[in-house]
Amino acid sequence: MVKITSRKPLGKTAALSVDSCVFCRIIAGQLPSSPVLDSDLIVAFLDIHPWNPGHTLVLPRRHIESFTDLSPMEVEQLALRGQQIATALKQGFDGCEAVTFSLADGVAAGQDVPHTHLHVVPRRTGDGLGWRAAGQLQDRETLDAIASQLRTALGVSSTG
Ligand SMILES: [Zn+2]
Repeated sequence: MVKITSRKPLGKTAALSVDSCVFCRIIAGQLPSSPVLDSDLIVAFLDIHPWNPGHTLVLPRRHIESFTDLSPMEVEQLALRGQQIATALKQGFDGCEAVTFSLADGVAAGQDVPHTHLHVVPRRTGDGLGWRAAGQLQDRETLDAIASQLRTALGVSSTG
């Protein structure tokens, strides 16, 4: 959490943040939704702008903007619920051959609602969805250097 020195702006900002959050308003029953799943930590409902029929959003009940601020239990439950929904989509949805999981963490990544959420999207061959950017082949020396940087940031020892 950010250190706050002035109480008044905090109250106003925090209240605005939650009160104006469309997902918090759905969870509070102030806005309509088509619910899929409801548990202690996690809720799921259909996306109002589905990429394919059955496109479901899975999110923490708490108003948390970033995935990296979730508790370990929330991360676990988010993944488990996402997996359960994907299984149901594959078993029960006509034409669902596969599932795309998508989670944009931050505005630069395309996060549109500041309440972290996992998209679970049923897919079929030729549906036209998917990543548009193609990565470029990278040399091993550069890959190793970047992997080393990441291991240091993670606090894990070199794999040799
Ligand atoms: Zn929220």
